[in-house]
Formats: sequence, structure tokens, C-alpha cells
Amino acid sequence: MNPAGRTTEELLAEVARLRSRDLPVRGGQVTAYVYDTGRAEVHEAAARAYFELLEVNCLDPTAFPSVVELERQVVGAVADLLGGGHGIFTSGGTESIMLAVKAARDAAHRARPNLVLAVSAHPAFHKAAHYLGVEVVAVPVDLETYKVRARDVADAIDENTIMVVASAPSYPQGVIDPVEEVAAVAAAAGVPCHVDACVGGWLLPWLRAAGAAVPPFDLSVPGVTSLSCDLHKFGYAPKGASVVLFADPAMRRKAYFASAAWPGYTIVNATVQSSRSAGPLGGAWATLQALGREGYLELGRATLEATVRLREGLARIPGLRVLGEPESSLVAFAGDGIDVFVLADEARERGWFLQPQLSYAGIPANLHITVTGVTLAGVEDLLKVIAESAEAARERGPVVLPEGLVELVAATDLEALDEADFAELASSVGVDLRPEAGQPEMATVNAILDALPAAAREAVLVRFLSAVYAT
Ligand SMILES: *Cc1c(COP(=O)(O)O)cnc(C)c1O
Repeated sequence: MNPAGRTTEELLAEVARLRSRDLPVRGGQVTAYVYDTGRAEVHEAAARAYFELLEVNCLDPTAFPSVVELERQVVGAVADLLGGGHGIFTSGGTESIMLAVKAARDAAHRARPNLVLAVSAHPAFHKAAHYLGVEVVAVPVDLETYKVRARDVADAIDENTIMVVASAPSYPQGVIDPVEEVAAVAAAAGVPCHVDACVGGWLLPWLRAAGAAVPPFDLSVPGVTSLSCDLHKFGYAPKGASVVLFADPAMRRKAYFASAAWPGYTIVNATVQSSRSAGPLGGAWATLQALGREGYLELGRATLEATVRLREGLARIPGLRVLGEPESSLVAFAGDGIDVFVLADEARERGWFLQPQLSYAGIPANLHITVTGVTLAGVEDLLKVIAESAEAARERGPVVLPEGLVELVAATDLEALDEADFAELASSVGVDLRPEAGQPEMATVNAILDALPAAAREAVLVRFLSAVYAT
């Protein structure tokens, strides 16, 4: 820490310097993580409202009634679009899902509660289950459509099931699970059904309005009891913005937490966090207001057109194929004779980020593109880069790992390695973990992960993160 304190100018210059190696958050060349409307004035409105509310604390809504009014409006907008219900504004999809699982667990009172979901469901459910002492019962997806089958869900439900999950869409392949059928089998068994519309909730209605065939998926579907919708994705709000809706207000109360078990201030929280900035709420509110219905309709039209052009363009590139028939604007493609991880590195060298997804449960390794409002302007450039990168990847051939490496990693007790040992192991396969080394060739990292079973992948990832933050 600097002993003397520093000027604002100095600090901002340093932030700018630190950010210079980040991926850009605007412009559409990063096709995951960031959501760009392409309209500077909308992001400006959000940033200013965020800043105004930055130091307001959501901890006590009686002290800061602005929080109640803003949340009423934001949650109300989501409920109006998605079939009604009683909501909570949260920090993101993970927190929305955590609260939905907690509510279902606390309503069900089972000794060994379990959660039935498809292998394509978001890891936020595994995380919630892990934190909340709930078991996960995973069912496969159809390997043609990448959707869960309602009868597989029905077969997996038992007397300890507290909730089943359907995704609209599931993130990996952008396809919508058969929500009506899954909710019906859940209702028949007397089990709540959560629709994970984290990525799709604020997207699918606008795509439908623009002409896409979107099946019913929201709280108006009989049997759906809760739904999550992230505003920091296709709501285009700054990060820290999601809503979880409950059909029944009694279920929403099960998500709340109160404690009088101490001598301090009274605690009653709607969310996992307690002290919490109202900035993200202000940012989300301002984004919704600045764009309005017309703005989202327009973004929906541009997103749909870009998605159609992307899918058509991908179909023309030899050796690539789109997985399934995505009904959303999330598109995943695999390679035949092309190592997609090498393709991703080639695209990165050309200034574009495509998101690698490892093979899992019979689904091949692939690359994921989230098409947003800004994608349309650059969709031909994107296709050109993918075509060139595919050709370059074909010429380079697949990553060849040193003989025995995967077996070695799988057999190593990673817990027993200290940070230096792990860094050495990484450098033996050409991955330099020192921050000054810059971006490693991710194809090698992905090839190793892809060759490992899931539990070993998780162990390596934890070591990798720890190494990234090594001091
Ligand atoms: C993004 C996402 C989540 C998790 O949301 P975070 O905001 O990253 O916590 C959950 N489900 C789906 C389908 C998602 O796309």
C-alpha cells in the first residue's frame, strides 16, 4: 500500500494500464462473457445510475427506500415479461439459482434431498447443491437435439427430490429443454420445477417477437414454480444483476433468511449477500429504462438476423458443424478433422475470442458463440476469421500431448503438490503460469483437460486458479 495516498489521475492511469491486456468488453470480438448493445448512450446511462447508487446499502430497505422502489420496478418488469410471480433481485444467475434451490430445500424438509437436472444444466446448480447439502441426480440429454427428455426426468424423480430443472436455453448448445413436458412430470410427482432462463429469459421473448419459433418456457407454463433471469446477460445491464421469480409468495419467503441469534442489528436478507451495493440495481434499472421495449425489440431483431447468418455461414465452412438446432442466439460448433481448441487459439491471434467447451457426456468438444446485439455489424468478419482459423487449424493438426502425460496427471495426487511443483508440472507441458508470460497456448491446456475425467479436470482447475493468484 502506498504510504502517501495518490491522485485520482494517477489511479485511473494505472487502471487503464492494468486493463490494457484485458479482452475488450465492447465491439463484439469477444463472443462470450460480455454483452454489448453497440449503443454507447445506454451503457453511459447505466454507468451513471450505478455510480449514483454505488454507496447505497441494500442491507436495510427501511433505511434506503429507493432500493425498494427500484427493485419493485425491475422485478416487476421481469415478471411482466415472463409470466408473473414474486421476485428477488440478486447479483447473478448463480445467486438466483442458489436461492431457488434453498427455497425448494427448505419447503421440502427431506432428510437426503436431491435435485434432478440434465447434464447440460449450468454448474450453478451443482454449486448450490454442494453449498446446501443437496445431492445432484444428473440425467443425459438426447445426443441429436441436446435436450433433456421428460421421461428421463420422470424416471429420476424419487421421494427425496426437492426440485427438477429445465433450461431455456441450456448454455452449452443454446437449445430449449421441453419445459412444458418437464414441468408436467414434475407437477405429477408433486415436485417444484425451476426454469433456468438465466441467459434466455430476457432474450427469448424478443427473438420470438422478431419471428423465431420459441416454445412456451416461462412461469405461465403449468407446473413451473420458479425461474431465473439474468439482466446482466441479454438485459445488457452491468454485471451484478439477475432476478429469481417464484410463482408462490410462500416459496419466495423460503428463500429469505432472518437471524436474531446475536446482540447486534436485526438481520433479514432476501439474498446470499447481506451488505450489498445498490449500484447494480441502479445500473439494471437504468438499462431497462434507457432501452425500453422498442430498444429490446430492435436488439432482438439484430440478434436473430446475426444468428441466422452465423449458422448459415458456419454450415458453409468445411469441417465444421453446428450442434443441434439452437432456438436461441447461442451457437456451438464442433470440428470434423479440425481441432477446435487450435481453431480458438488461431482466432485469438486474429483478435477474436471464441469460447472452448470440453467434451462431456457424449457431447464432442466444441466452441461456443453468444450472439448479441452488436454481433450483426461484424458477423461477416467473424465468419471470415472462423474460416481462416479452421483452415490454419487443419494445417497445424490436432494438439499432440506427450505420451503418458494424461495418465500421469490423472494419477498424480494434486493436493500433495506445492505451488512450485504444480508450476513445474505445468511448464513441463509448455504452460508458463507466470503472469509476465502472458496468454498461454490454451489449446494444450484444453487438450489435457479434455482428456481427463471430470473429477480430475476439477482438481486441475482448482490448482490452475490457485497458481493464477499465486503471490
Ligand atoms: C450464465 C448462466 C448461469 C449463471 O449465471 P452467473 O450470472 O454467471 O452466475 C446459469 N445458467 C445459465 C443457463 C447461464 O447461462
